[in-house]
Amino acid sequence: MVSELLIPGCQSWDYELLLEYFTSRDVQEILKITLPSTLRHDRIIWHQTNDGVYSVKSAYKILMAELEQHRTANNIEKWKELWKFKAPAKFKTLLWQAFRNCLPTRTNLSRRGINCPLVCVICTRDMENTWHIFVSCPYAAQCWTISNMKDIVDQCAKNADRFVDWFFKVLMAGDKVNVGGKENNAIGRTPTEWRKPQYQFLKCNVDATFFTETRSMRFGMVVRDTEGKCIGCRSMVMEGLYEVKEGEAMGLCEALSWIREMNFNQVIFGMDAQIIVKAILPLKS
Ligand SMILES: [Zn+2]
Repeated sequence: MVSELLIPGCQSWDYELLLEYFTSRDVQEILKITLPSTLRHDRIIWHQTNDGVYSVKSAYKILMAELEQHRTANNIEKWKELWKFKAPAKFKTLLWQAFRNCLPTRTNLSRRGINCPLVCVICTRDMENTWHIFVSCPYAAQCWTISNMKDIVDQCAKNADRFVDWFFKVLMAGDKVNVGGKENNAIGRTPTEWRKPQYQFLKCNVDATFFTETRSMRFGMVVRDTEGKCIGCRSMVMEGLYEVKEGEAMGLCEALSWIREMNFNQVIFGMDAQIIVKAILPLKS
């Protein structure tokens, strides 16, 4: 108790006693504390409120401030990663706006004084904000389902309460590939420039992605004409995890079947798995 550190009957610190319990530096600080003119009983106070009385509200405020500080520090690091993405500038700008919550969603427009309904313009079920348009809107859910990412998206949504956290969780879950002990991250890939196919030809680009957590592979394929216009695309999931070269070859087989089903003729194939390209090229000659 503080009162035990005072000289009995006097309103001054017991210097000798202070030296017994504290370092000389702390003692100098304690001696700077002005003692009250009248003696009072010691009591426990909460120093976060003016009256010294603890309140849940003040504790909540402190915890939220700490959480925000922590998040800001994390987000700054994440945002640095954003500008390194090998992606079109407009995509990065869109993400940056979503991270900063400055997309012109109806909620944000209303906050800025624009008189408009708050409900989502597409589904009319919920408030239109960044989280809704990318995550919880049924229309967004359909898009994630078509791209075979619904499971990942939903799983990440359970463990994130802000768009930026959710996005990086999805990115980590979807792009981290770990096959044969090697880790690869799609962010770091160097993009190759897409070249149009020659006149009267179509070009089909195909790629495979590997998901160790769900032990599955996903294939994506897109067919474009000589103008670069997309005339067909498909994505599919396959259970099981194979080596990269096997998975890429299976992706190519799926693409060939699909091209045949679609009756596309004179198709040139493009893929980034050099081992498969080298294995197939001699067949052409
Ligand atoms: Zn909606």
